[in-house]
Amino acid sequence: MHNVVIIGSGCAGNTAAIYTARASLKPLVIKGVEVGGQLSLTTEVENFPGFPQGILGPELVENMKLQAERFGAVYLDGEVSEADLSKRPFRLKVEGEWLETSTLIVASGAKARWLDLPSEQKLIGHGVSSCATCDGFFYREKKIMVIGGGDSAMEEANFLTRFGSSVALVHRKDTFRASKIMLDRAKANPKIEFILNTTVDEVYDVSQNIVTGVRLHNLVTGEKWDRDVDGFFVAIGHIPNTQVFKGQLDLDADGYLISHGGARTNITGVFHAGDVQDRIYRQAITAAGAGCMAAIEAEKLLEAEGH
Ligand code: NDP
Repeated sequence: MHNVVIIGSGCAGNTAAIYTARASLKPLVIKGVEVGGQLSLTTEVENFPGFPQGILGPELVENMKLQAERFGAVYLDGEVSEADLSKRPFRLKVEGEWLETSTLIVASGAKARWLDLPSEQKLIGHGVSSCATCDGFFYREKKIMVIGGGDSAMEEANFLTRFGSSVALVHRKDTFRASKIMLDRAKANPKIEFILNTTVDEVYDVSQNIVTGVRLHNLVTGEKWDRDVDGFFVAIGHIPNTQVFKGQLDLDADGYLISHGGARTNITGVFHAGDVQDRIYRQAITAAGAGCMAAIEAEKLLEAEGH
């Protein structure tokens, strides 16, 4: 029987682990499929306070884990396949075995949706990115391409015009899911070129381990052509990792956890932290802050219950 189980080993989960471990609660962290979370998919992180020279994403999360282990946090390989939150202690099935916990911090994150091209996957962190705020800075005076037709794509394209010499927005239709105001803003930006009814067939150049261009494909005319690109930003949505909690925790229409104030969910003793609840900021530092909040709330609840 655990005091605190934390699901997820990204910034949010690791920070919750540091705080609950320092409160002598011996947290158990279930690492999940994407060990280290979204930071493990990035290279240089320049906007996490405290690192004036920047730090590599995987190194930053590994440091957080070491920091939590120093105070007694335990990390478990595997993922949660079933959860029973109907009463406390909560029960979680991890790699075939059930475990019990008094409190639970859900920091299971959200996966960026990708085009799922083999070349795109191989070049993540080498010119392919799912986060303009994180990586835009690296593409000063470079050719940038953004994929998507929703608010994220419009926002990222607008933001990236601060850096790029050009920004091409590629969308598979000529109608948009983006809100009118976001679309109008992007259309009014002279630095953004819209390439519509078009998909990407391949991202070049895996052999050089860096993005140099793409093969585009017009779905209406069938035309295919190559274009030089340095930064390739995929902004086609995110999928929160909440499937095992369906029907138990309150989720919005897209599957994000709904907050019931602070880090609380609809179930007393279950807290949220990071991208699994946050569809807006999605930053390492905001996830870390949310992990801290969840840890403090779990600690306070356990204290009030006399643990
Ligand atoms: P959305 O689901 O709204 O849009 C996803 C876009 O990606 C769609 O245009 C979709 O095209 C396209 N897409 C999906 N899969 C593929 C694929 N395999 N290949 C090519 N294109 C694909 O996601 P967003 O992340 O843009 O937004 C999510 C939510 O967050 C929305 O509610 C949005 O309003 C909100 N948001 C708000 C912001 C703000 O207000 N500042 C900023 C960012 C997001 P298609 O239309 O053809 O399906």
